[in-house]
Amino acid sequence: MSTAIFLDRDGVLIEDVDLLTNPDDIRILEGVPQALRSLKEAGFRLIVISNQTVVARGLVTEQEVYAIHAKVECLLDQTGAPRLDGFYFCPHHPNATLPAYRIACECRKPRPGLLLQAAREHNLNLVASFIVGDRITDIIAGASVGCRTVLVQTGKHQAPPIETVEPLDRSIQPDHTCANLGEAVRWILALQPFDTAQGRRGSG
Ligand SMILES: [Mg+2]
Ligand SMILES: [Zn+2]
Repeated sequence: MSTAIFLDRDGVLIEDVDLLTNPDDIRILEGVPQALRSLKEAGFRLIVISNQTVVARGLVTEQEVYAIHAKVECLLDQTGAPRLDGFYFCPHHPNATLPAYRIACECRKPRPGLLLQAAREHNLNLVASFIVGDRITDIIAGASVGCRTVLVQTGKHQAPPIETVEPLDRSIQPDHTCANLGEAVRWILALQPFDTAQGRRGSG
């Protein structure tokens, strides 16, 4: 089995510009390429898990979300960052503008549907994996499947949680809180001094 770092996209990898619809608005956050490189060298799979309400609102199509992701990957590649291993997003919302997406799904964080799907498809050991997010909904999704959780402050963590179907479990707190992905990575790697050598993880 492999271990993963689940990464929220907006506010963790790229600037959270609120309803990103134009690939030209993508800004990779400072320190992200190096942080991803360190994680990859430690053997983690890098898997993006994102709520994309813009689809439910009819602002972009699912295809355009993939195009935006391709641009993120391209920008990362230009900085020498490693390839991401997976990209999963939820296009739904219980109050979606587009009826086709108007469901209370299992994949919208704080629900863990996308983490479980990624775990199946990448043969991941969830309890050895981590999630890094900028919202408590990221933290709850990870904690509910046994991941360790890191809250970073590069996004909109100070904003109240966006509406969800059911009340958020206020008892869930991140295992660690820090400024950005770079600091999150230092914390994660310091936890496992004995198995961060390249090749010790992720060999299947
Ligand atoms: Mg976010
Ligand atoms: Zn969904």
